[in-house]
Amino acid sequence: MPDQKPPHGPCQAGQNSDAELPLDLEQGAEAVEESSLAEPIDVSELDNEVSDSPESGPRLAQFRIDRNRRFAIPFLTKLWPAKVHYLSYESLRGYVGCNGPDCVLCAVGQAATDLYLLPVYDPITRSVQIMLVTGALRPTALRPQLVPLLKRLSKERIFLTLQKTSQLDFAVHGQALPAGADDGAEIIRGFLDRLEEGAIHPSSALLQYANEVLADIPEVRNALHFGSPQE
Ligand SMILES: [Zn+2]
Repeated sequence: MPDQKPPHGPCQAGQNSDAELPLDLEQGAEAVEESSLAEPIDVSELDNEVSDSPESGPRLAQFRIDRNRRFAIPFLTKLWPAKVHYLSYESLRGYVGCNGPDCVLCAVGQAATDLYLLPVYDPITRSVQIMLVTGALRPTALRPQLVPLLKRLSKERIFLTLQKTSQLDFAVHGQALPAGADDGAEIIRGFLDRLEEGAIHPSSALLQYANEVLADIPEVRNALHFGSPQE
């Protein structure tokens, strides 16, 4: 998928889901088995530019999974839920945060879906990034393969090997962290401190636009001419 720039700069990153509490995998499997989304998993090419503006706060990068083998060191057993729209417009492709009850994307009939956000340490870029996990529960989807591996974290440090094997399928493996490997301890600690302070939020890895900005996307503007059932 080509790397397409959104038509406008990001704004209000993370505002929508700051109140969302993460799911805790240690509370049992049923806590994360309730959703049954079967959307194609596409860790899309989203804008990862860092913004330090006071409105949006610092943004986290997305951990992208593609046909190349990627490594990730998980350190949390929590998944942050986020309501998103997957846009496949010519002018904008990727996951965009839903703006809630008065969301323009909802108003033009774009389906909102649930995503789960998992912070992981990427030992290649030496940074904490956010893995986007859909609710899909097929055995070859991401989440059913991740959950049992994350549960091992209470007993041991592991690293994950992740690779997309088709548009919908993933190969995910977990192994004990080799002795002497970079475990990201210091960078992870810094991330956890900022998370606890509320200085950063996993949802900042998603694109979030104000309704006025969304209404200005050509495809949305065209759809708005036809009104919506709410009007
Ligand atoms: Zn919406």
